[in-house]
Amino acid sequence: MQKKLLLTPGPTPVPEDVLAAMARPIIHHRHEEFKGILAKVKEDLKYLFQTSSDVLLFAATGTGAMEGAVTNLLSPGDKAVVVRAGKFGERWAEICQAYGVKVVPVDVPWGKAVDPADVKQALDREPDARAVLIQASETSTAVRHPIREVAELVAQREQTVMVVDAITGIGVFDIPTDAWKLDVVVTGSQKALMLPPGLAFASVSPKAWGFVKQSKLPRFYFDFAKEKKNLDKNQSAYTSAVSLVLGLQVALERIKKEGLQNVFARTEKMARATREGAKALGLGLLAPESPSPACTAILLPAGIDGEKVPSLIRERYNVAVAGGQDRLKGKIVRISHMGYVQPYDILSGLAALELTLRDLGHPVQIGTSVQAALAVLSE
Ligand SMILES: *Cc1c(COP(=O)(O)O)cnc(C)c1O
Repeated sequence: MQKKLLLTPGPTPVPEDVLAAMARPIIHHRHEEFKGILAKVKEDLKYLFQTSSDVLLFAATGTGAMEGAVTNLLSPGDKAVVVRAGKFGERWAEICQAYGVKVVPVDVPWGKAVDPADVKQALDREPDARAVLIQASETSTAVRHPIREVAELVAQREQTVMVVDAITGIGVFDIPTDAWKLDVVVTGSQKALMLPPGLAFASVSPKAWGFVKQSKLPRFYFDFAKEKKNLDKNQSAYTSAVSLVLGLQVALERIKKEGLQNVFARTEKMARATREGAKALGLGLLAPESPSPACTAILLPAGIDGEKVPSLIRERYNVAVAGGQDRLKGKIVRISHMGYVQPYDILSGLAALELTLRDLGHPVQIGTSVQAALAVLSE
């Protein structure tokens, strides 16, 4: 069997010490030992989110925490400004629609970041909008949104909260939750946190807790107040995902040891190396103006069957990357550089991409992208 390289924007590779922690025998989630672990994890999550508020944990994928944000903050018939710039922006709108929340869309062409002036216009037009829902990093298009500027608009409005899907933002680039006045920030375990899928997280600001008190949408499992009451006792409302929390403890220790700012710098450098590699091959980027450091979306040459790239690169070269979704199918390939990825993994990914493009009939000078990326990595 060949060694495989996972460079998809979720799930991402899991480090060996995290895997080992998760292989430990199960302990009971109501016993003292587990409470001690959760107490520690609780503190480390505050470091990761750069907040003094509690970060709630749920056994779910990231979408669970997104749904929880909507149902805990809003009431039927409320309006929410939704930035729709890709698949995940659309997901915010779909969750709202499922719960009878009126969507005030701010539609952005795929590959572009939102202009904060457009959000301001929507808020001015709908002053009773109760929330702004946005992505820090829109993984489907590899775009980074200016959440700091948008949050400044929202912070001036007492009746509106700022809700950020930072599922490919937290642990990827600097998102100081408290300093930027982000009210609810959501992430999931299988992206930059270097864990398997199955944990969702949400930080909740004091302003957001005020909204939770007034909110009237139905909720049961994703009940923020109930979860907070339990977390205050280093417990979860229902059975904790014990093994994932054991892994989380080690993953958070790794991040603390490296230092958040160093994690961001390493990720940014790998992102830049990937972009330079693509450009050296003569390939364009889907989001050249506001690229996310989480993953890079490379435009595929028009002359090849782009839909074949993800399967070919996996079958022939044991590298997993992601293609495009919906209208981007066959048009892009997405290479992740968040979490447990080391700089030289990027070189393997680019090398495999070069060979795959050549296999599909696109002329490639072998080594071109690798050389450009290595030049960045060796700075
Ligand atoms: C991965 C991801 C999600 C969540 O997807 P799940 O499959 O529910 O974990 C949501 N938003 C963004 C931006 C993502 O990258």
